[in-house]
Amino acid sequence: MFNLNNILRENIKRLKPYSSARDDFSGEASVWIDANENPFNTGVNRYPDPHQRELKACLAQIKGVKPENVFIGNGSDEIIDLLYRVTCDPGKANAIVMPPTYGMYAVSAEINDVAITKVFLREDFSVDAEAVLAAVNENTRLIFVCSPNNPTGNLVPIDVIETIASNFDGLVVVDEAYIDFTTSESAVSLIEKYPNIFVMQTLSKAWGLAGARVGVGIGSKDLLAVMDKVKAPYNVNILSQQVALNSLNDIEAFNAKVDIIVEQRDWLSAELSKLDIVEKVYPSDANFLLVKFKDTANLFQFLLDCGIVARDRSKEKWCEGCIRLTVGTPDENEMLVKALNQYFI
Ligand code: PMP
Repeated sequence: MFNLNNILRENIKRLKPYSSARDDFSGEASVWIDANENPFNTGVNRYPDPHQRELKACLAQIKGVKPENVFIGNGSDEIIDLLYRVTCDPGKANAIVMPPTYGMYAVSAEINDVAITKVFLREDFSVDAEAVLAAVNENTRLIFVCSPNNPTGNLVPIDVIETIASNFDGLVVVDEAYIDFTTSESAVSLIEKYPNIFVMQTLSKAWGLAGARVGVGIGSKDLLAVMDKVKAPYNVNILSQQVALNSLNDIEAFNAKVDIIVEQRDWLSAELSKLDIVEKVYPSDANFLLVKFKDTANLFQFLLDCGIVARDRSKEKWCEGCIRLTVGTPDENEMLVKALNQYFI
């Protein structure tokens, strides 16, 4: 049975967080002399709202949850790091990842001196829930499930996530960075039933705000209260909060861009499949394609010479010969196909 108290580090449970005069006050005032700011207006002379109240309210509405279930980080990468710092005793705890997957789960674990247990996806990139649960021991605090998975592009079915969550006493982190590129169900619908499911999304992909660094966590109020204690007080800067609010208020522009990317993904997939040098284009629910080439020895350099920077994933298990290609604008995608047409093994 999941009990949050059992997975929190003792020092974090004891922690009295940094507090500011604005923790409980966000109303109008005529004089702000509590934070040693410079009073002269530069547009950013004031600290941002440490609790990102407006942004959380907006995200909560879009995601169909309560603001108290929304956490905002300086990108999802900050959230991954916070999850380790809140739950994993350095040198003792471990986390489970399912390669080939997003690299930061393991890098962040290493930084925090947390051991990683790798349970590889099956060759068809599906999750082996039984093997994952068999790898759990008493020091396992986190299991990372990436859906759609980077770099393979496939979704993890909701029932597989439920199986893992209902048989694990730690936290299941479902990374849905690419969820807006698919019409399949999000694990957000599970957070009420499973307090040990924490969903991560981001404004870096479908929302087009990678440079603003806005990551979104959706989970239980109790877990979020602990994460709030540990995060840097002003972890999301004022400009990013404003840019995020502007974008979130223009759902039509968002939908239009996502539609183009999804349409282009399918076009690119069909075009790449026609090429002699391509062995396989994997199906994708994300904004990228994993493509297996017959020979990648010189391909990566060839693309660079054409001014195209792609991501080489060919050194990883199950991804031998694979390059990951992000779906670009229609012009960029055409350039890519044209370039690959010039490549001969
Ligand atoms: N999760 C996955 C699966 C990703 O692929 C990425 C970015 N490549 C991230 C998280 C990081 O997102 P953010 O920009 O919000 O830090």
